[in-house]
Amino acid sequence: MKIDKISLKWKIFGYILFLTLAIVVVFCVFQILLLDNVYRGTKLKQTKKLMEDVYRLVDQQDVSLILDKTSSLTIQLNELVKDLESNCYIIKKEQVIKEENSNIPESNFVCLYPFDDLSDFDGKINFADLFNQINVVEKPMFVVTDDLEHEYFHQLISEDDKIVKNNDIIYCQRVELADHKSTYMIILYARITPVQPAIKTLKTQLLYITLIVLALAILFAIIISRLISKPLIDMTNEAKKLASGDYDLDFKGHGFLEISELNDTLNYALRELKKTETLKRELLANVSHDLKTPLTLISGYAEVIRDFPTENQSANVQIIIDEANRLKLLVNDLLELSRINAQSEPLKKSNFNLTKLIIEIVERQQKLVESIHFKINFHYDALISIEGDALKIAQVIYNFLTNAINYSKDQHIVDIVQEINNDDVIVKFIDYGIGIKEEEQPLVWQRYYRLDKTHTRSSQGTGLGLAIVKSILDYHGFKYGVISKENEGSTFWFSTKYQEKHIK
Ligand code: ADP
Repeated sequence: MKIDKISLKWKIFGYILFLTLAIVVVFCVFQILLLDNVYRGTKLKQTKKLMEDVYRLVDQQDVSLILDKTSSLTIQLNELVKDLESNCYIIKKEQVIKEENSNIPESNFVCLYPFDDLSDFDGKINFADLFNQINVVEKPMFVVTDDLEHEYFHQLISEDDKIVKNNDIIYCQRVELADHKSTYMIILYARITPVQPAIKTLKTQLLYITLIVLALAILFAIIISRLISKPLIDMTNEAKKLASGDYDLDFKGHGFLEISELNDTLNYALRELKKTETLKRELLANVSHDLKTPLTLISGYAEVIRDFPTENQSANVQIIIDEANRLKLLVNDLLELSRINAQSEPLKKSNFNLTKLIIEIVERQQKLVESIHFKINFHYDALISIEGDALKIAQVIYNFLTNAINYSKDQHIVDIVQEINNDDVIVKFIDYGIGIKEEEQPLVWQRYYRLDKTHTRSSQGTGLGLAIVKSILDYHGFKYGVISKENEGSTFWFSTKYQEKHIK
């Protein structure tokens, strides 16, 4: 089975279960398999440390101090060995003549600390042998056995603590005391309590713990996987409805940040799709209306010319020409808009003089509106160059200006202001006409959006002018916007970084 085919629910379930099992296994390994080694290692380390401390304390000290139970040395020694479960011995080897008529000395071993008590080692250690071996080395040594059960010690001596396998650690080191007559040795005797019974108990406990943890993990995995997958499944089902064209729904996923974000994104997409759908319907209605009206007029007047050749021909032909022009305008705008939106043509960018371009357009437009006593003022105090597609930016200026003129009503004046703000140039098209309601201002950039929904023939536009402006400015990456108040007028603006500036 491919991994993508497994549902999220089962994947989460699997991961949690795997994690739990891994934790249980690690726990078992540490508790059961390594416990013995860890315990042994710690005990060895403690014994070595104790040897260092005892050696440091008694080295070169006077024997009498060790023998005196009230001396500070003995008290300190007691303190050192008290906490650990180990015994500490300081042993003296002396030569004595035992038989009266023999002059061969024999070795005698006396325990100085704790006073004269060597019972722990009865039958376990051959002191004579030990003293012989320890005499030649300075370092502390382990007494080890190769017999695990060691009823008695089969004695070996080694520096290597790795071979200490049995349950006793015997660690010895030569030490110099102040009398220099005898040989002295410190012996540390630590018992390693067998951990096997403890491990047995642990095993039983761990079995129960594993079962309980697994049961809890399964429960937890089911709950978590449900919590995560349920909203996703719901959202997927809703999205399927959306794909089949049903926009009457609402995504309700929640519970986790990512799911909430996905939910918000889907709701946003839904809203946008709804808008596009409405826009598409409006667009179809508008296009067919806008195409139908001139076409009806053209065919109507053409029939009049055919049927009544004596009628006022030139006026009728003029109407046909006007309507054909209107059709051309509409088709051109539609083509222009789809071309810019598809971004099929790259922008022909150059460094051009924006101020001069505005002056030219204003002069041309001024001539057209002079007959109705319309005044277009252009205010600027520097010649500014910008980078962009000059032809397309000319279209933007032209569209903003024609709109300002068309929606000026009786106020026959339009101001164009070119301002400089730090590195930016801003061009504003200000009219004092009908203005736009605040809630409608963001909508005017949509194609075919017309505030005048009745589409009276008096309004000359195609409803595509600002959509074209928006596409061009977006394509250039320029900023733009509108500030307007109903019945007081509008200010449409765009801005970009300028390249050069020549003060007038
Ligand atoms: P149109 O061809 O209808 O002018 P536009 O895309 O240029 O299409 O503008 C869309 C709508 O925005 C217009 O129908 C008009 O209602 C509104 N509009 C545009 N410019 C202005 C303005 N300067 N003052 C008031 N309303 C405006």
